Amino acid sequence: MTKDFIETFSVICPACKGQVELKEDGSGIKCLACRRVYPIKNDIPTMVVEEAVIEDEESRSAT
Ligand SMILES: [Zn+2]
Repeated sequence: MTKDFIETFSVICPACKGQVELKEDGSGIKCLACRRVYPIKNDIPTMVVEEAVIEDEESRSAT
């Protein structure tokens, strides 16, 4: 549903207007440009800059 939401509504990052994609685990929508991750609550993406968390891709490879 959320993936369709991104395509249907042409969702972009509200912070940088960059392209976003659904995270692999479906827990959020990630901006490919600034790496902000917008949380998904009850299947509804929260496209609010204040709610976004910046995810560091490199630090994740250590785990
Ligand atoms: Zn962005």
